[in-house]
Amino acid sequence: MFYSIRDDQGRFLFGNPDVIYQKADDLDPTDPDDFNVYFGKIKNESVRIVSIPVEHSINKVKKQFFIQVAETRNQRTEIQRQIIFWIVIPQLILLISALILVRFAVKRGLSPILYLNEKIIARSYKDLKPIDIQNVPLEVDRLVGSLNNLMGELDNAIKSENRFVNDAAHQLRTPLAGILAQIQLAQESQDVEEIKHRLEQISQSSKRLIHIINQLLSLSKTQPEAMHASQFVELDLVVLVKKTMEDLFSLADLKKIDLGFDGSNEAAFIMGDEQKLYDLIHNLIENGIKYTPNLGKVNVSIKSKNNKICLIVEDTGKGIPKEDQPNVFKRFYRGDNVTQSGEDAGAGIGLAIAKEIANMHEATIEIDSRNEKPGTRFYVYFDAVAPK
Ligand code: ADP
Repeated sequence: MFYSIRDDQGRFLFGNPDVIYQKADDLDPTDPDDFNVYFGKIKNESVRIVSIPVEHSINKVKKQFFIQVAETRNQRTEIQRQIIFWIVIPQLILLISALILVRFAVKRGLSPILYLNEKIIARSYKDLKPIDIQNVPLEVDRLVGSLNNLMGELDNAIKSENRFVNDAAHQLRTPLAGILAQIQLAQESQDVEEIKHRLEQISQSSKRLIHIINQLLSLSKTQPEAMHASQFVELDLVVLVKKTMEDLFSLADLKKIDLGFDGSNEAAFIMGDEQKLYDLIHNLIENGIKYTPNLGKVNVSIKSKNNKICLIVEDTGKGIPKEDQPNVFKRFYRGDNVTQSGEDAGAGIGLAIAKEIANMHEATIEIDSRNEKPGTRFYVYFDAVAPK
């Protein structure tokens, strides 16, 4: 450390003359915190100089002096170095160790997923067997459980699709085989009357074939992937039911069945896809006509209660045995109460379509067919929409 004392003009008085004086603007000599700081050089060493103004009386005359204290910067540089060493270096080490730890933890954390990924990649797309939970790490236990559930559902869906194609082919083959047999018999016959009779049978089987194909198409339109093609609008169920009935009067007439609409004509608004709801209503009424003996009755009505609108289709037909009721909504299921061939022979998909359409509309279908009350009653409950 070096010092110098200078007078108010900055002229050297005492100390080391190398400790230079640098004039600062507006220094208050009465204020001890008011000083001037600057850098200089003493014997080629860089120094930091602090110049403090002081007032001092000599022979009662007040004068101003400047005291300069210079300090080599070695010490400060050393302190700086120490700060860097004790703050920056440990922080750096901490940061690097944290990075290494995070990398290690992420790698370790992801390893069960990578292991699972390898197991899935190694599988064939046909292999929908559940992944063995015993051998998978605990961390992905639940994920594997959910994956297994999904694969189980996928497996069931694929099996059911295969069964569907199989059953559909079977349903189409039966009338086609009949048509071929009739053609063969007609070709072998010389009798005009018999040929006419065969042609009539061919026409009946062809109609049945077209009906089954239409139903299969209708069923495919109710599948979830076809949902986007649905057009949900606000519609009056009473109007739609009456329109559907008009298309079925001729079928009812053939069996002298009294097909009627009973109940209130008041509008019953629901949200729905008109074409699909038409199919639902059509299938229920057509079944009523099909499974009711000649001269019977099929009655349709609509009731509103507690924000629900209920469509009721009832007939005086043969009824559905209790044990058949849980199955009639399954695809290709035909009850024991119906003939498997002949006039009322169907493909067993009418109610499956009705159920899918009801699901699509968040509606529920119920059957009421009891021993003590003849016939069958189908109830379809829709959510009502308040009329605008
Ligand atoms: P399909 O009429 O072509 O056989 P559905 O899916 O429409 O197929 O009906 C399934 C089964 O439910 C029928 O085979 C029949 O056993 C029974 N069923 C449906 N509606 C009635 C009804 N109104 N009366 C008696 N049985 C019915």
